[in-house]
Amino acid sequence: MSHTIQRHITVPVKVGRISIGGTAPVAVQSMTNTDTADVAATVQQVADLARAGSELVRITVNNEAAASAVPEIRAQLDARGVHVPLVGDFHFNGHRLLGEYPECAVALAKYRINPGNVGSGEKRDEQFAAMIETAKRFDKPVRIGVNWGSLDKGLVARMMDENARTPEPLDADSMMREIMVASALQSAQRAEEIGLGRDHIILSCKMSRVQDLIGVYRMLAQRCDYALHLGLTEAGMGSKGIVASTAALAVLLQEGIGDTIRISLTPEPGGDRTQEVRVAQEILQSMGLRAFMPQVIACPGCGRTTSTYFQKLAQDIQGYLREQMPVWREKHPGVEAMDVAVMGCVVNGPGESKHANIGISLPGTGERPAAPVFIDGEKAVTLKGDRIAEEFQTIVEEYVRTHYV
Ligand code: SF4
Repeated sequence: MSHTIQRHITVPVKVGRISIGGTAPVAVQSMTNTDTADVAATVQQVADLARAGSELVRITVNNEAAASAVPEIRAQLDARGVHVPLVGDFHFNGHRLLGEYPECAVALAKYRINPGNVGSGEKRDEQFAAMIETAKRFDKPVRIGVNWGSLDKGLVARMMDENARTPEPLDADSMMREIMVASALQSAQRAEEIGLGRDHIILSCKMSRVQDLIGVYRMLAQRCDYALHLGLTEAGMGSKGIVASTAALAVLLQEGIGDTIRISLTPEPGGDRTQEVRVAQEILQSMGLRAFMPQVIACPGCGRTTSTYFQKLAQDIQGYLREQMPVWREKHPGVEAMDVAVMGCVVNGPGESKHANIGISLPGTGERPAAPVFIDGEKAVTLKGDRIAEEFQTIVEEYVRTHYV
């Protein structure tokens, strides 16, 4: 897919079968919210996320039960043909779990280490080193994931003191950003000193405010060439989480910053976890950075079309395309870049429909009850009667079958 964004070039990192950084496309990742010790539930959710298009899935490894479940989760996923790389999320006891459960360390494709939650004082360096040694031993990459809510307290105190003694101290917000970046870069440097290659290190500095996130990642991109994982932390629920994440990530991606993204949405109780994958894909696709699934271009509707018929058709077609994608992805390469237009009336309908691969212009209020269908810019047929939706779906199916082989 063509785009003119100049990428901030980073050192590529292999995470299982996925490449992150360098010239690789921006990867989509997600995280489970099941208890990792519950193997069946975790396998199911990882499989759901992978099926939705998540290219890496992170699972929490917070205790011995979780660590001992990881190899079984990997085995069951492989048995189901789901080979998505698993990332282990470690806090506080990661050094111990990785040391005591080598099969867990092997089954994971990457370890996430939060430098603020590795320990304090001398133990901190020792425990951090133990995790890096395990990564070296099993040839695994790590993400050094600094989080606004869990900054290394010693580093905060030291840098705040130093700042207070300067003639023109930075304000608190600017200083927080500096500390985030320093925490990530110092930890990465320590990992390299221990012997982990730059091609095994990914950095993230997650913050919950859009402007802070943009500021921090611009600093990281200026100061290093490590692969960068982007995400607004604690983005929130519903449209607030989606809009805030999009606002932050779109600015950075447009500047070529970011090698992998995760959208941290809080699902509604009992809600669908795969929404975070779809939102990540939609951000990348709407920016022209990647194509994941055919897009439905639908007009917003107005007083010229008083029925909800065309809204329903747009929704049905979108649902149908989404349903087909797991199969189409394999059988019909290139279909993910297809555009389908569903327009409400004659004002913009034919024009917009001509620009799509396939478009339908439905009759507006008072218009003749006929719906012209355009294929590759040419009017192909006019549908009439009660079966317009079914007939249009058949045309889409036929187009996919004959054009993406
Ligand atoms: S295409 Fe027609 S129905 Fe849709 S927004 Fe434009 S004028 Fe309104």
